[in-house]
Amino acid sequence: MTDCIFCKIAAKQIPSRTIFEDEDLIAFHDINPAAPVHFLIVPKQHVATLADCDESHADLLSKMMLLAPQLAKEQGCGYVAGEQDAGSGGFKAQFNTGPDGGQEVYHLHLHVIGGPRPWRGQR
Ligand code: 5GP
Ligand code: ZN
Repeated sequence: MTDCIFCKIAAKQIPSRTIFEDEDLIAFHDINPAAPVHFLIVPKQHVATLADCDESHADLLSKMMLLAPQLAKEQGCGYVAGEQDAGSGGFKAQFNTGPDGGQEVYHLHLHVIGGPRPWRGQR
Protein backbone atom coordinates (compact mmCIF):
# COMPACT_ATOMS: atom_id res chain seq x y z
CA MET A 1 0.00 0.00 0.00
CA THR A 2 1.85 3.09 -1.23
CA ASP A 3 -0.12 5.63 0.84
CA CYS A 4 -0.06 3.66 4.12
CA ILE A 5 2.01 5.28 6.87
CA PHE A 6 2.91 2.00 8.59
CA CYS A 7 3.92 0.40 5.29
CA LYS A 8 6.20 3.41 4.81
CA ILE A 9 7.65 3.00 8.32
CA ALA A 10 8.22 -0.73 7.66
CA ALA A 11 9.96 0.19 4.38
CA LYS A 12 12.10 2.84 6.18
CA GLN A 13 10.63 5.60 4.00
CA ILE A 14 9.49 7.31 7.22
CA PRO A 15 11.73 7.19 10.31
CA SER A 16 10.59 5.64 13.57
CA ARG A 17 12.12 4.84 16.94
CA THR A 18 12.37 1.13 16.22
CA ILE A 19 12.78 -1.29 19.12
CA PHE A 20 12.46 -4.61 17.26
CA GLU A 21 12.53 -5.89 13.71
CA ASP A 22 12.57 -9.26 11.99
CA GLU A 23 11.38 -10.56 8.62
CA ASP A 24 7.69 -10.38 9.59
CA LEU A 25 7.32 -7.61 12.17
CA ILE A 26 8.55 -4.19 13.19
CA ALA A 27 7.94 -2.56 16.59
CA PHE A 28 8.43 1.14 17.30
CA HIS A 29 7.53 3.79 19.87
CA ASP A 30 4.18 5.49 19.33
CA ILE A 31 4.65 9.12 18.24
CA ASN A 32 1.94 10.26 20.69
CA PRO A 33 2.37 8.04 23.75
CA ALA A 34 -0.59 7.49 26.06
CA ALA A 35 1.64 6.25 28.92
CA PRO A 36 5.35 6.15 29.91
CA VAL A 37 5.77 3.12 27.63
CA HIS A 38 3.74 2.96 24.43
CA PHE A 39 4.91 1.06 21.40
CA LEU A 40 3.27 -0.59 18.40
CA ILE A 41 3.88 -4.07 17.01
CA VAL A 42 3.21 -3.96 13.28
CA PRO A 43 3.33 -6.66 10.58
CA LYS A 44 5.42 -5.73 7.55
CA GLN A 45 2.67 -7.21 5.38
CA HIS A 46 -0.24 -4.80 4.89
CA VAL A 47 -3.40 -6.04 6.63
CA ALA A 48 -5.96 -3.33 7.31
CA THR A 49 -7.59 -4.46 10.57
CA LEU A 50 -7.96 -7.39 12.96
CA ALA A 51 -11.34 -8.01 11.31
CA ASP A 52 -9.54 -8.62 8.01
CA CYS A 53 -7.58 -11.51 9.54
CA ASP A 54 -8.42 -15.16 8.98
CA GLU A 55 -6.76 -18.53 9.55
CA SER A 56 -3.96 -17.54 7.17
CA HIS A 57 -2.93 -14.83 9.67
CA ALA A 58 -2.90 -17.12 12.73
CA ASP A 59 0.88 -17.47 12.87
CA LEU A 60 1.39 -13.73 12.39
CA LEU A 61 -1.09 -12.83 15.14
CA SER A 62 0.44 -15.39 17.47
CA LYS A 63 3.88 -13.93 16.85
CA MET A 64 2.61 -10.38 17.55
CA MET A 65 0.91 -11.41 20.78
CA LEU A 66 3.90 -13.38 22.07
CA LEU A 67 6.27 -10.53 21.25
CA ALA A 68 4.24 -8.09 23.39
CA PRO A 69 5.35 -9.34 26.85
CA GLN A 70 8.91 -9.85 25.66
CA LEU A 71 9.28 -6.26 24.41
CA ALA A 72 7.28 -4.90 27.38
CA LYS A 73 9.90 -6.47 29.64
CA GLU A 74 12.72 -4.92 27.64
CA GLN A 75 11.00 -1.52 27.77
CA GLY A 76 10.60 -1.68 31.54
CA CYS A 77 6.88 -2.49 31.90
CA GLY A 78 7.04 -6.27 31.99
CA TYR A 79 4.87 -8.51 34.08
CA VAL A 80 6.06 -11.77 35.61
CA ALA A 81 3.31 -14.40 35.86
CA GLY A 82 2.11 -14.74 39.44
CA GLU A 83 3.32 -11.33 40.59
CA GLN A 84 -0.14 -9.74 40.81
CA ASP A 85 0.55 -8.72 44.42
CA ALA A 86 3.67 -6.74 43.49
CA GLY A 87 1.61 -3.57 43.02
CA SER A 88 3.21 -2.53 39.73
CA GLY A 89 4.39 -3.87 36.39
CA GLY A 90 2.24 -4.85 33.46
CA PHE A 91 0.74 -3.38 30.33
CA LYS A 92 -2.27 -3.22 28.05
CA ALA A 93 -2.12 -5.01 24.69
CA GLN A 94 -4.81 -3.63 22.39
CA PHE A 95 -5.98 -3.89 18.78
CA ASN A 96 -8.17 -0.89 17.96
CA THR A 97 -10.49 -2.07 15.21
CA GLY A 98 -12.71 0.09 13.01
CA PRO A 99 -14.26 3.52 13.62
CA ASP A 100 -15.94 2.68 16.93
CA GLY A 101 -12.79 0.86 17.99
CA GLY A 102 -10.91 4.13 17.64
CA GLN A 103 -8.70 2.91 14.79
CA GLU A 104 -6.97 5.77 12.98
CA VAL A 105 -4.29 3.93 11.00
CA TYR A 106 -5.74 1.17 8.84
CA HIS A 107 -2.70 -1.09 8.96
CA LEU A 108 -2.94 -3.78 11.64
CA HIS A 109 -1.05 -2.91 14.83
CA LEU A 110 -0.94 -4.06 18.43
CA HIS A 111 -0.61 -1.25 20.98
CA VAL A 112 1.47 -2.12 24.05
CA ILE A 113 0.89 0.50 26.74
CA GLY A 114 2.37 0.45 30.22
CA GLY A 115 4.74 1.92 32.75
CA PRO A 116 4.15 3.58 36.11
CA ARG A 117 0.74 5.24 36.57
CA PRO A 118 -0.81 7.79 36.29
CA TRP A 119 -1.13 7.57 32.51
CA ARG A 120 -2.48 10.28 30.24
CA GLY A 121 -6.14 10.77 31.17
CA GLN A 122 -6.17 7.73 33.45
CA ARG A 123 -5.37 6.90 37.05
P1 5GP B 1 -4.94 3.58 16.17
O1 5GP B 1 -5.82 4.68 16.69
O2 5GP B 1 -5.04 3.43 14.68
O3 5GP B 1 -5.13 2.29 16.90
O4 5GP B 1 -3.48 4.02 16.55
C1 5GP B 1 -2.57 4.57 15.67
C2 5GP B 1 -1.39 5.01 16.50
O5 5GP B 1 -0.33 5.31 15.61
C3 5GP B 1 -1.65 6.26 17.34
O6 5GP B 1 -1.42 5.96 18.70
C4 5GP B 1 -0.66 7.28 16.77
O7 5GP B 1 -0.10 8.10 17.77
C5 5GP B 1 0.38 6.40 16.10
N1 5GP B 1 1.01 7.01 14.94
C6 5GP B 1 0.39 7.64 13.89
N2 5GP B 1 1.28 8.06 12.99
C7 5GP B 1 2.51 7.70 13.47
C8 5GP B 1 3.84 7.86 12.96
O8 5GP B 1 4.09 8.43 11.90
N3 5GP B 1 4.84 7.36 13.73
C9 5GP B 1 4.61 6.72 14.91
N4 5GP B 1 5.68 6.26 15.58
N5 5GP B 1 3.37 6.55 15.41
C10 5GP B 1 2.33 7.02 14.70
ZN1 ZN C 1 0.15 -0.66 5.34
